[in-house]
Amino acid sequence: MTRSDWQHPIGDELYERAKRVIPGGIYGHQSPVYLVDGAFPRFLCEAEGCRVRDADGHEYVDFLCSYGPMVLGYRDAVVEAAAERQRRLCDSGNLPAPNMVELAEKLVSITAGADWAMFAKNGSDVCTWALAVARRATRRDLVAMVEGTYHGVHGWCNPARRGFPDGERSGIVTFPWNDAGALEELFRKYDGRIAGVIATPFRHEARHDSVMPGEGFLQAIRELSTRHSAVMISDDVRAGFRLSLAGSMHHFGVTPDMTVYSKAIANGYPLSVMLGSDALRKAAEDVFVTGTFFTQAVPIAAAIATIGEIEKRSAIEHMDRVGRRLCGGLTARARAAGLAVTISGPPSIPFLSFVADEGRLERSRTFAAVAASHGAFFHPAHNWFVSAAHQDADIDFALDAAEAAMAAVAREHGKDAR
Ligand code: PMP
Repeated sequence: MTRSDWQHPIGDELYERAKRVIPGGIYGHQSPVYLVDGAFPRFLCEAEGCRVRDADGHEYVDFLCSYGPMVLGYRDAVVEAAAERQRRLCDSGNLPAPNMVELAEKLVSITAGADWAMFAKNGSDVCTWALAVARRATRRDLVAMVEGTYHGVHGWCNPARRGFPDGERSGIVTFPWNDAGALEELFRKYDGRIAGVIATPFRHEARHDSVMPGEGFLQAIRELSTRHSAVMISDDVRAGFRLSLAGSMHHFGVTPDMTVYSKAIANGYPLSVMLGSDALRKAAEDVFVTGTFFTQAVPIAAAIATIGEIEKRSAIEHMDRVGRRLCGGLTARARAAGLAVTISGPPSIPFLSFVADEGRLERSRTFAAVAASHGAFFHPAHNWFVSAAHQDADIDFALDAAEAAMAAVAREHGKDAR
């Protein structure tokens, strides 16, 4: 079988079975409709380091990292050993395990602006929880968010809205990314009512190029929040642990009042955390939020090991370096193929789009499909991630796949005028 003939009969059959017993077959962000249906695998069976293997046995160098969590690479030996040690003691319990305190202390010691930590499972959990803390602390009803930003699936921010009444969004007001003047206007219009402002450190919406914060934008959110006694919340669920261990807002020179993390915190184990400043401690205590699995000890052990290894291996610097190698290589190969591309986002969380697509993602889909058939897993519409497990040789392998994919794009869609 040549690589370009990759078929997925086992995965296709599983998908047919799934559709009979699971609405949509595979739902949410993992639905095949968001990849290139028919050209991509639908199920993964194994993963190690930066490589994943699908249900039909094809192997890929992976640039999605499970949508972010795999910051050290799949099945990292140190993290797995720590998780296994804790698994032998206790995972879900009547009471938290002592390691909850250890992780909270660690996070408080490294995160800019954080004096306390509370744990949950998903990014959605802690985004919603942070809004409740801000409202309780200020006794105000509204929260400002950037229009169109993804903060999870709860009613106040669910992007599809279907099934969630408009009333659930009644406490939300929005302003455009990189428009501090619009936020200032919101503070004027809703004088004394805005409890907090929630924002991601850079804009990374699916189907769009990533947009870095403009000069002074995050600083303006900080300054306006302080001036109006509102709480600045950093949603660092996606970018966290890839730009700075002190938080991605810190990387951009800003200290928020609250930071929420999930994804990469425990290298794939389910955990999220809400961190906040002393001024919000009482409000955090007042708000009643809990979950049966929120303090599970195995993910907490994995998080302690993950953060320790990120520090020990200088993983952030490594990801930045291999990310730059990837982005530079993609730029060169696109140019050689006669294609105009945009590479956006930080090098460790990059995204590539084709200028001539004008947002339609047609070339992106061709690119991702052909790259997959050459053994590189690039998402056509969602930002990518690199991990500490990606080495130069993996990047170079993926660049060869990308070269074949660029050639296919030029063949199918034409070259761009120079
Ligand atoms: N906020 C951001 C910025 C995210 O990227 C995500 C997940 N993609 C979430 C919140 C929601 O996290 P989860 O899927 O764990 O609920």
